[in-house]
Amino acid sequence: MAQSKNSKKKTTLSTGAGKAVCTFCGGPREGKKVTLTYARGAGWVMIESVPASVCRLCGEKFFTPAVSERILRILGQAPAGARTVTVPVIDFDAA
Ligand SMILES: [Zn+2]
Repeated sequence: MAQSKNSKKKTTLSTGAGKAVCTFCGGPREGKKVTLTYARGAGWVMIESVPASVCRLCGEKFFTPAVSERILRILGQAPAGARTVTVPVIDFDAA
């Protein structure tokens, strides 16, 4: 009856914001707030403070379905709190 040692199973939920491992490299993931950058039109859009589960080995970011849905919604509209920042772009060969 004491089979708890042998029936040790890891339950991972790919969409869970918990302690699941990276689906690409199997590395440990940790909850973080990240900044995302997307090409949009002629410029870029940055979304700050996005809750994500980030792989500590390869850096791959994972989002809950609710978060990814919201990212798409933000990208599809002009967010009220948006501000414009100037980003220096340096050409590697010219520097
Ligand atoms: Zn990884």
